[in-house]
Amino acid sequence: MSNSLTNADESVTYDAIVIGAGVIGPCIATGLARKGKKVLIVEREWAQPDRIVGELMQPGGVRALRSLGMVKSINHIDAIPVTGYSVFYDGQEVSIPYPYKADSAAVPKIKDLVFDGNDQVDDDETIRRSVYEDGEREMGVAFVHGRFLNNLRNITKREANVTCLQGDCVQVLKSDNNEVIGAKVQIEGRGKVDFHGHITFVCDGIFSHFRSELSPDHVPSIGSSFVGMSLMNADIPAKNHGHVILGHDHSPILVYQISDTETRILCAYNAEKLPRDLKAWMIKDVQPHIPESLRPSFDAAVAQGKFKPMANKYLPARANDVMGLCVIGDALNMRHPLTGGGMTVGLQDVVLFMQKFGDLDFSDRATILDELLDFHYERKPYDSVINVLSIALYSLFAADTNNLKELQRGCFKYFQRGGDCVETPVSFLAGVKPSPFELTRVFFAVAFYTIYLKFEERGFLGLPMALLEGIMILITAIRVFTPFLMGELMG
Ligand SMILES: Cc1cc2nc3c(=O)[nH]c(=O)nc-3n(C[C@H](O)[C@H](O)[C@H](O)COP(=O)(O)OP(=O)(O)OC[C@H]3O[C@@H](n4cnc5c(N)ncnc54)[C@H](O)[C@@H]3O)c2cc1C
Repeated sequence: MSNSLTNADESVTYDAIVIGAGVIGPCIATGLARKGKKVLIVEREWAQPDRIVGELMQPGGVRALRSLGMVKSINHIDAIPVTGYSVFYDGQEVSIPYPYKADSAAVPKIKDLVFDGNDQVDDDETIRRSVYEDGEREMGVAFVHGRFLNNLRNITKREANVTCLQGDCVQVLKSDNNEVIGAKVQIEGRGKVDFHGHITFVCDGIFSHFRSELSPDHVPSIGSSFVGMSLMNADIPAKNHGHVILGHDHSPILVYQISDTETRILCAYNAEKLPRDLKAWMIKDVQPHIPESLRPSFDAAVAQGKFKPMANKYLPARANDVMGLCVIGDALNMRHPLTGGGMTVGLQDVVLFMQKFGDLDFSDRATILDELLDFHYERKPYDSVINVLSIALYSLFAADTNNLKELQRGCFKYFQRGGDCVETPVSFLAGVKPSPFELTRVFFAVAFYTIYLKFEERGFLGLPMALLEGIMILITAIRVFTPFLMGELMG
């Protein structure tokens, strides 16, 4: 380990201490450093991680990286441009391109953070500047997570105001009156060292140990799992698209290419506890639904047996109401990974934070706390849309009742109508339409379209039956959607 990663000065009072250098930590640290703040960022392992999370970034995340002047982090990592999604349902396919740039607000450029063209991508082996900068549609990107993280971390390391520390944060330090004043870090060769800062950011991610500093009941719920595999040299049915494979008798399967040679497949299992024999499950319940062209690479991956299971967690955000503390990223808020929205929410949080707090004096802790309470409400439009969409779509796509299966089929047929029936829903997925009201309108448009299909199928003589079914479908839609939306907006 490089000595420079362990010799952070504990006699300094930092403006900010950041715990965790996953996706969000480096962005917070870099933004604050560019605003002139003295930052300490602590990460337990700076070497490139090997994880199956955070591999497809929606356009909303790319836009946030632009606002932060960090978008070149998607360069030179063999990243795959993503132009939209393809949804497969019982042998049919519908293509859903990302929305037009002209339909979204302009990307804000944050003062002091954006300079020298750092809000624009470079040309490299896989990324075309002309496509990202001059194309008329929003663009997403997929990559090997660890390579992207390396790029983010290298940008952070270049900031003069940032001190990087390798160590395991073991405690959030508190004063006698329970205000957060820093972090205790276990450092190889130095033991446990106390560092002090005006504000401590908890960005310790999915398995956060310190999110409970906000409240002991700030704990995620787990309802389902993904089992991931790497498909090598796969023949992708729809190039540069995320694939969602649906069907009335299996859970959703996600497929997206993450490098020239590697494609990620995530197979949903609709329970927290996975089957004991994953190979047998893959062959019996997943393989029959895999598109023909993907079968050889899928079969090879199953034979190899390198399965990477991951629990899917849901955690609505809480207000940051502890003096000196800001919990952010997955430590604060998680949603179902089906819609690949985690990095987008976290990065949009960093953008909002920089806009609101970047020019404030962090030693004025009372003002910062007041602003953090506002921050909680100001982030709701974008986080609630992405979070509720992920949960509602997962309920439909992993349908385990007849009414949900009807809604799933209705949703697919709604997409097949094209036009606004695709353009608006995809803008929620892309993370570029922060409007819970519009999301509600579209969700119930899908429900009513499903009911309409029922009436059409039943015909005149089946009207009473269709009416009954329609009521049940509507009740199911309300139950799937409304509690989560209310929870997100009111919480
Ligand atoms: C199966 C799955 C698939 C996903 N796919 C996508 C996707 O395609 N697109 C998307 O946008 N999102 C996806 N997500 C969500 C995404 O991964 C997260 O939103 C994102 O990683 C959150 O970033 P973060 O920085 O908050 O946390 P993390 O990325 O988890 O980073 C936390 C960091 O903190 C460090 N750390 C933890 N504890 C300590 C400690 N005590 N001391 C020091 N360091 C510590 C860790 O080493 C790590 O580097 C997925 C999630 C799952 C579960």
